[in-house]
Amino acid sequence: MNNKEFWEDKEKDIIFQANKLNIIESCVDRHAKKNPNKLAFVFEFENKSIKKYTYKELEKEVNQFANYLNSLKIKKNSRIFLFLPKLPEMYIAFLAVIKQGSIAVPLFEAFQSEGLDLRLQRGDADVLITNKELTKRLSKEVKKKIKTLKNIIIIDDQDFKKKLEKQKTEFKAVLKNKKDTAFMIFTSSTAGTPIAGIQIPHYALIQQHFTAKLVLDLKQKDNYWCTAHPGWITGAVYGILAPLSIGCTNFILEAHFDAKKWIEFLKRNKISVMYTAPTALRMLKPEIKKEDFKGIRNIASVGEALTSSVFDFYKNLGIEINDSYWQTETGALMISNTPLMKKKSGSMGKPLPGINATIKDGMIIIKKSWPAMMTGIYKHEKMYKEYFNKKWFKTNDLARIDNEGYFFFEARKDDMIKSSGERISPIEIESILMKHKAVKETAVIGIPDEIKGQIIKAFIVLNKGFEETNQLKEELMSFVKQNYAGHSYPKQIQFIKEFPKTNSGKIIKMELKNLK
Ligand code: AMP
Repeated sequence: MNNKEFWEDKEKDIIFQANKLNIIESCVDRHAKKNPNKLAFVFEFENKSIKKYTYKELEKEVNQFANYLNSLKIKKNSRIFLFLPKLPEMYIAFLAVIKQGSIAVPLFEAFQSEGLDLRLQRGDADVLITNKELTKRLSKEVKKKIKTLKNIIIIDDQDFKKKLEKQKTEFKAVLKNKKDTAFMIFTSSTAGTPIAGIQIPHYALIQQHFTAKLVLDLKQKDNYWCTAHPGWITGAVYGILAPLSIGCTNFILEAHFDAKKWIEFLKRNKISVMYTAPTALRMLKPEIKKEDFKGIRNIASVGEALTSSVFDFYKNLGIEINDSYWQTETGALMISNTPLMKKKSGSMGKPLPGINATIKDGMIIIKKSWPAMMTGIYKHEKMYKEYFNKKWFKTNDLARIDNEGYFFFEARKDDMIKSSGERISPIEIESILMKHKAVKETAVIGIPDEIKGQIIKAFIVLNKGFEETNQLKEELMSFVKQNYAGHSYPKQIQFIKEFPKTNSGKIIKMELKNLK
């Protein structure tokens, strides 16, 4: 069986109507019919209260939300941005937007006004779904700047709630072509633009479903916890679509990381499968004990290298972590360990079935195409084409393969930063810093960090009249936090008199890494 036949065979696991589909039929409707009382979501909020949804209840809420969108005359194929914490509405609206035939664009909740505005603007947002607290981050000019933005839906507004309740509980999913975009993730880029809207098609669910079974070993009976926010690709795919397509119960913890609380959450909810980032696994190390894993069958990690020391630590506690590799652009897992295979410390495993990946000039390349492969980059056709070299997709990740075919991650080929598994473009941070009156020139790089994998470091040449003080460093750090995002600001700042540059005047970032 070749790869094409392999994936065609997997179509049987997803609902098609002739040659068309809407993935929400496979993720929600079929389970609501077959298994109405099975729990789909259990949310635990910051204030400790809990909210549960069965598949039947989820279907009802999704349908009402989709009907509400239609009541506002929101056309199909609209780009509907979702800017919310890990609240039920984030998940319900994500599903409703896709079911209504539009394109869901989830955003991480930590973005401040500049980061948020840039994404809404570049994505020509038609609708924004958010809450009272987060709307405060919208700049006053945003509506003027974004001509397409006609509707802002505030989920904790009483009027909205009343209107939503009155909507019909039936909604027929709008059928789409296989390659139609279901959702778009604005991810960081270093190729000329700081951010790019990666388009993932409905057809991707074939592969997302298959890999959730193979790598996560997800079954209907599982209590599953994916720790990623839906604004990142992992949170959208393996935190919403893939597990729902399997029909398991998804647990969501709204609170941010706290080792003791995470361990209690694992035990209290009898989590059997967990998908998380190596940073979290490193931060859990001081607290976690062998008995905490009693109910756990599988832990998989993603987003950054799972170093030997972390893998070995957990192996000693009796659990072998399945490190897995993919990117926003690939739309689903590509190279991975699986529960059944022999694992090697420090390796991210082997190409999954249906995937042909190898290494050329040190870089991982993948033979196109596969079901979840991005179908485009919003308004960046040229950039999209540059990902391909004839039949091959270029990942920009450097790795090596051993004689048994195991892949070992080495580094990014470009200067993208990965901190706590989250993708950050140095250009975006640099452009924020340049707006501060003290900054004449700046260059941002990622430097190694024992816990977070990498942290952001900014090198800065100051304008005349500004002094190199610690107070100014603090001010610049909070300037980025307030204007861009709380999760990615420079934790280190170094003032320098002059940048090392090429003859053409470009800053040589490689040399900055060695500056003391
Ligand atoms: P994102 O698009 O945010 O999912 O980030 C994708 C990038 O994260 C990849 O291109 C890699 O640089 C990195 N990455 C993902 N998984 C792994 C892994 N298992 N080991 C090392 N790096 C990874």
